[in-house]
Amino acid sequence: SGIALSCAGCGVSLQSERQEEAGYLPESALKREPVICQRCFRIRNYNEASSVAVDQDDFLRLLGSIGETDSLVVHIVDLYDFEGSLISGLQRFVGNNPVLLVVNKVDLLPKSMNLNRIRNWVQQQAKAEGLRTVDIVLCSAKRNIGFDHVIEALERHRKGRDVYVVGATNVGKSTLINRLIRDYSDLERELTTSRYPGTTLDAVHIPLDDDKDIIDTPGIVYASRMTEIVPRSFLQSLLPDKSIKPLVYQLNDKQTLFISSLVRFDFVEGERQSFTLYISNALNVHRTKLERADELYKEHRGELLGAPSREELDEMPAWTRHSLRIPRGAKKDIFIAGLGWIQANGTTGAIVDLYAPKGIKVLMRDSLI
Ligand code: GDP
Repeated sequence: SGIALSCAGCGVSLQSERQEEAGYLPESALKREPVICQRCFRIRNYNEASSVAVDQDDFLRLLGSIGETDSLVVHIVDLYDFEGSLISGLQRFVGNNPVLLVVNKVDLLPKSMNLNRIRNWVQQQAKAEGLRTVDIVLCSAKRNIGFDHVIEALERHRKGRDVYVVGATNVGKSTLINRLIRDYSDLERELTTSRYPGTTLDAVHIPLDDDKDIIDTPGIVYASRMTEIVPRSFLQSLLPDKSIKPLVYQLNDKQTLFISSLVRFDFVEGERQSFTLYISNALNVHRTKLERADELYKEHRGELLGAPSREELDEMPAWTRHSLRIPRGAKKDIFIAGLGWIQANGTTGAIVDLYAPKGIKVLMRDSLI
């Protein structure tokens, strides 16, 4: 990059190529005195956290050093991308520190959902992942739903300790931190940024009124989520903004659905039944016969089927096929990380094929809804 400097605020190595990654500053800001990264600059001047991201190795190192502190760990996940955004192995790294699971974006759920049921579902999934939580709180940082519960839980479980906030990218961590800065931190004291002990990573310290801090860590990038592999210009279409309107499709077997040009879903075998799509309503859905699907994709990907464009699709990993057998009698979701899920409503079972870019996490789970 040509820049071989580190940030005077947090110590991270500076770079000016990748805006969403740690240490970014615009080239023009090199003339600033002192030279600090964009993240520190925003915190200092606007009291505002912004998202930065790091890769898995750096992140695991950071988690490991949290394990050596005595603190409360707040793990933010995206309800809409639960398995995509849950940090696997978190428990192992944070040691004996308690984990408070904050489940964000509940505003995306279709209206009139029973939140207790959702909470139980989250509890079971977290347990299955080996995560022990002291508490689970559902909220929407953006729409200010359940935020008083977040603060209550922080107070109850913090017990005079520092709070480390960890999460994957795009779960709404900065939105939540900014709300905490406004509603909870001690604004009398100056916001500081400081080097994270024992790592090369920066972490932002937000003061609390008892000389303890909320420490915001960079977001971890998981390439197994669709949100991380699409062009940035397409991200807004992928991330739903309002409560999701489920799309119900009555399908016969040998029918196919395309979700934009990103995913193909084949209902290969089974009795006529309905499938419900929980995806951003900004995405295009196209239905066709299975026998037509190959040709349709070849001719119309990136165009009739929807964005990203052909050129952008060529930059993404090619599709791989997941053959799934949906068992009889059970309500299951086919979950596609960073995209959403397809709920199978039939009780007679089905065989389906799901095509998604190679590396994207695809799994079958008990229905969330
Ligand atoms: P970060 O990468 O985890 O710091 O996430 P951001 O705070 O930058 O948010 C990522 C995206 O999710 C943005 O488009 C936000 O507007 C959106 N977002 C954050 N919180 C919520 C929420 O509670 N509900 C909804 N619908 N969107 C949210």
